[in-house]
Amino acid sequence: MELYKGARVDVELVEHMGSDLTVVNAARVSFGKRKKEFTEGDKKLIAFLAKHGHWSPFGHCSIQFHFKAPVFVARQLVKHQIGLTWNEISRRYVDYEPEFYEVDKWRGKPIDKKQGSDGELKDEHGICQWSKTKTEKAALECYKGLLGQGVAPEQARMILPQSMITEWYWSGTLYAFARICNLRCAQDAQYETRIVANLIDKECEQLFPISWTELRKT
Ligand SMILES: Cc1cc2nc3c(=O)[nH]c(=O)nc-3n(C[C@H](O)[C@H](O)[C@H](O)COP(=O)(O)OP(=O)(O)OC[C@H]3O[C@@H](n4cnc5c(N)ncnc54)[C@H](O)[C@@H]3O)c2cc1C
Repeated sequence: MELYKGARVDVELVEHMGSDLTVVNAARVSFGKRKKEFTEGDKKLIAFLAKHGHWSPFGHCSIQFHFKAPVFVARQLVKHQIGLTWNEISRRYVDYEPEFYEVDKWRGKPIDKKQGSDGELKDEHGICQWSKTKTEKAALECYKGLLGQGVAPEQARMILPQSMITEWYWSGTLYAFARICNLRCAQDAQYETRIVANLIDKECEQLFPISWTELRKT
C-alpha cells in the first residue's frame, strides 16, 4: 500500500452568476435604467466605477471555486474575509490519508528583506527534498499509529504538517476576488499563494473581461 501521496494546487470554477452587463445595470438603476446588451460605452462606466471605488455594482456578480492547496497557503488566503464565504474539509470528521504538496523548486532566503524569498536554491544533494519527504512520511506513520491507538481524529490531526493538502469551497463577489488578486498576484506575495491567485485571476478574466481588467488596475 502506498504510504505517501504528492499533490499540486488545484482551482476549479464551480459556478458563477452575472456578467459585465450585471455590473452596468446595477449602476444604472440609480437613473431607473436597464439595458439588455452590453455596449462599447459601458466600458467607460465600468472603468469609472472601478477607479472611484464604487464597489457595490461589482458585488452583484458572484463566483464559486473549489480549491485544493496546502495548509500554509489556505492559512494565508482565509485572511480575506469581506464579501467571501469559506467551507473547508474537517479533519475532525475525516481521517483518511492526506496528500502532501509537491515542491517544484526550493527558494533561498533573501539577503536584503525580512520576508519572502530570493531566486532558486539548488538542492544539489537532494537534502531539502529528503527532509520534506522524511518528515511527511514520519508524520503520516505516527498519525496512523495514533488513530490505531483509538485517538480521536480531531486530536491526532495535530501532528500533520502544514504541507498537507486541504480543500475548500470559496464563494464571493467579483469585487472581493479582485481585491484578493490585487494583493496575492503581486510579486511580494508568497509564490505558492500566487499560484492559486493567478488561477483565480485567469478564470475571472474570462468570465468578466471588462470589469476584471478595470478592477485589477485599482
Ligand atoms: C503580502 C502579504 C503579507 C501579509 N502578511 C501578514 C502577516 O504577516 N500577518 C498577518 O496576520 N497577516 C498578513 N497578511 C494579511 C493581511 O494583513 C490581510 O489580513 C489580508 O491581506 C486580507 O486583506 P483584505 O483587505 O482582503 O481583508 P478583508 O478582511 O477581506 O477586508 C476587506 C476590506 O474591508 C476593510 N476591513 C476589513 N476589516 C476591517 C476592520 N476590522 N476595520 C475596518 N475596515 C476593515 C478593509 O478596507 C479591507 O481591505 C498579509 C497579506 C499580504 C498580501
